[in-house]
Amino acid sequence: MSKIAIIGGGIIGVATAYELAKLGEEVILFEKNYFGSGSTFRCATGIRAQFTDEANIRLMKHSVERWEKLEEELESDIVFRQTGYLFLAASEEEVEAFKANIKLQNKFGVPTRLIDMDEAKDIVPILNTEPFLAGAWNPKDGKANPFKTLFAYLFRARELGVDAREHTEVVGFEREGDAITAVKFRSNGRIESVKVDAVLNAANAWAPLINEMAGLKRDLVPITAYKHQLVKTEPLEPGQAEPLVCPPSWNDAYIIQDGEDGGIICGAGIEHKAKSLDDYEPTYDFLRGVLEYAVRIAPPLRYAHIVRQWAGFYAKTPDSNPAIGKLLDNFYIAAGFSGHGFMMAPAVGEAMAELMSKGRSSVPLDWEWYDPYRFERGELRSSAFQIG
Ligand code: FAD
Repeated sequence: MSKIAIIGGGIIGVATAYELAKLGEEVILFEKNYFGSGSTFRCATGIRAQFTDEANIRLMKHSVERWEKLEEELESDIVFRQTGYLFLAASEEEVEAFKANIKLQNKFGVPTRLIDMDEAKDIVPILNTEPFLAGAWNPKDGKANPFKTLFAYLFRARELGVDAREHTEVVGFEREGDAITAVKFRSNGRIESVKVDAVLNAANAWAPLINEMAGLKRDLVPITAYKHQLVKTEPLEPGQAEPLVCPPSWNDAYIIQDGEDGGIICGAGIEHKAKSLDDYEPTYDFLRGVLEYAVRIAPPLRYAHIVRQWAGFYAKTPDSNPAIGKLLDNFYIAAGFSGHGFMMAPAVGEAMAELMSKGRSSVPLDWEWYDPYRFERGELRSSAFQIG
């Protein structure tokens, strides 16, 4: 049994801690703030296998299969609902692009199909069908509650013996050659250290700072925090917009109805580089911009009251694909998840745990595609299709 430290108590760190404990490893998990306080509790809840490249489609197909069994496995209602994702094409060129994407997704067993606007209206009663020609519809995509999911993983991880510490900030490492031998952390104002056999950097937007602490170049894995925001309406009758509905050519604007309280979450690709790693202030520009899109997608929303607006980070690499893999002998990274870390967590947690514990994984995760050294080599991947 090895002692493994995980830095970052977001969904990736917590899911990996749980998977490592299942494999019998001793795990210490550090979160500098409270669990979920990074991007995880700020996300739009969406889960989809509708990507536009093989690596992300295959990873997400596996992840959705894990999501399907997660409530039973974690013995907790995480409000996972397969209510689908509906992408909308506003031009003939987009319809052709959708067809090509659908073909690729079908090739890997994802059951997306092209639907007409009558069917789209049946699925989303408040949809404005007029501007659109067709939809790409995968009923197996879905959504889950990020709060309940993280706490369900955390609860089970602790039951399996994970030492999960919040308000405990990692501040440095001891390193011998290419191996990390100890983690230094601040707790209750005191600096302490613990000997470890391996370390996972799951600090998302903060990951470059952790890499620097490990003696690596800060921009070896270039991750930049972009401020993304959401607004949520008052509760509406269930069934109005259950799938995530998105016309990608409208600045990736989307709406999705909360599977529990019925409020409609509205997002868009209106992003700004975060001024700092605590730049969480929501902006009026976003509120105005996102609502213009939302009421064009679903006109009845003009009568709904907005009850919340919040901001978080898309931690983005230059190709919007995460960095997953080994950086030093016993120092690993799974970070830079852009808008997809929540949906990918079941698969990535499983894959990382297997890699760290057994040196290999049965999860269909293309390690070369997500190789954290690809940026240094100048080998960017095709950009992962973003949005929640
Ligand atoms: P985080 O949740 O950010 O966790 C990293 C943690 O590391 C933080 O809690 C931080 O406090 C901690 N940390 C940092 N430094 C230290 C240190 N020195 N010591 C200890 N701890 C440290 N994804 C989806 O899949 N579907 C969606 O629909 C979706 N919608 C989104 C909408 C918005 C508005 C935003 C902002 C994001 C959205 N995302 C979505 C993205 C998703 O939220 C993230 O990709 C995911 O939560 C990343 O999880 P993580 O565990 O990697 O990072």
